[in-house]
Amino acid sequence: MALTKHTKHHRPHRPLAAPIRQQSPDAHIPHSRIADHGLGEQVSYELLTNELLLDGQARLNLATFVTTWMPSMAARLMDETADKNMIDKDEYPQTAEIESRCVNIIANLWHADEAEQATGCSTTGSSEAAMLAGLAMKWRWRERRRASGKPTGDPNIVMGANCQVCWEKFARYFDVELRLVPMEGDRYHLGVEEAVALCDENTIGVVAILGSTFDGSYEPVKELSTALDELEANTGLDVPIHVDGASGGFVAPFIQPDLEWDFRIPRVKSINASGHKYGLVYPGVGWAIWRNEESLPEDLIFDVNYLGGHMPTFALNFSRPGSEVIAQYFMFLSLGHEGYRRVIQNAQDVATHLSSEIEKLAPYQLLTRGDELPVFAFTLKEDVTNYTVYDVSDRLRQRGWLVPAYSFPANREDLNALRIVVRAGMTMDMADLLLTQLTEETSDLESLDGPLPSTKSLPHKAFAH
Ligand SMILES: *Cc1c(COP(=O)(O)O)cnc(C)c1O
Repeated sequence: MALTKHTKHHRPHRPLAAPIRQQSPDAHIPHSRIADHGLGEQVSYELLTNELLLDGQARLNLATFVTTWMPSMAARLMDETADKNMIDKDEYPQTAEIESRCVNIIANLWHADEAEQATGCSTTGSSEAAMLAGLAMKWRWRERRRASGKPTGDPNIVMGANCQVCWEKFARYFDVELRLVPMEGDRYHLGVEEAVALCDENTIGVVAILGSTFDGSYEPVKELSTALDELEANTGLDVPIHVDGASGGFVAPFIQPDLEWDFRIPRVKSINASGHKYGLVYPGVGWAIWRNEESLPEDLIFDVNYLGGHMPTFALNFSRPGSEVIAQYFMFLSLGHEGYRRVIQNAQDVATHLSSEIEKLAPYQLLTRGDELPVFAFTLKEDVTNYTVYDVSDRLRQRGWLVPAYSFPANREDLNALRIVVRAGMTMDMADLLLTQLTEETSDLESLDGPLPSTKSLPHKAFAH
């Protein structure tokens, strides 16, 4: 259980570790209850910065998709706007205006048709955006069913078994049956035929992922749409598509402009993306956009009458920092389309460089190359029996690099892989350093006389995508 539990037994207080000049023999850091007297700002700051040294180095974290580098001016702007609450739209009308400019910019990036009047909002991330988009699909489906006098008790949603955990949450929290298309052979994401076969009159929608967290691959949105068009022609079932573009929503528009995955496809009714992934903003900001007002049922929208203003909102959260949204707009302003293209293309160049060099190392086999998202997965060839991908991950961790190893979902639970996510801030030089160290560790592992002891007791399975 990852939740922090409240325990009655207080851990023994530890003596203060720093800084020496302020240390008194009976000073303790409180771990489980607020101290009677505070330590003061200076000491608290020193203590926390010391303690946080134990965290991994964010820039060497090749596990996360989330932004770990922003220009210092952006960090300063965020600092200066940390006191703004996104929900107080009446008090901070300019922040609200900036949010709606971002919605327009993103809708435009995803080829929303101006005549259709796309609508959308910022969120804390793609997870909240996925909940909102899922709810909109559920509501629309229910309205259609009610209108034709049909039961509304058993909604389901279809997607690949490679979906991110937010969709499992959506299904469970909002009582929708999750129908997952398993992986098969070297298909590591949703199969179009298999997805369509799972659809029926109770399907609220199919989610297509751009791209998959497991291997960085894009799901075939266009082909899925064509197959659902055929389903409609044959059966009358009109199943909408939602695209989970958590990462790809800010990648494809810049470096794969001809790939049709967005509102150019009429069946795509809504899209989410994480501003804090390739949108290049620190966590947490996400975006949910609907192609038109009709796609977002009105009774999900609340009119907030708060602190003196009326404002329509669609969100699970109430208060939320305005600084992330402001930082998103800052990035749009400062980079422009060409700047984003350059940054993302650079990440992709680093990713494909890394993958092609890793492919040259005898024990490894690529699952993907980083030519869709700048993300790729690789595994060990079958004849490698003395060590596992988990050992490789552990070795790299000893060198400071966080490269996760994990097993794939149904029906490829047998497949264990390593994954590298290349983000802004990872340079070619850093990539070459990683390659040198990976090569060294790999040749050391290759020289083993016998198999390493199994490391099953380590929390490998706890890796969250
Ligand atoms: C990261 C991710 C999510 C969750 O996004 P957050 O912004 O972290 O909430 C959902 N789906 C996909 C495909 C992702 O990559």
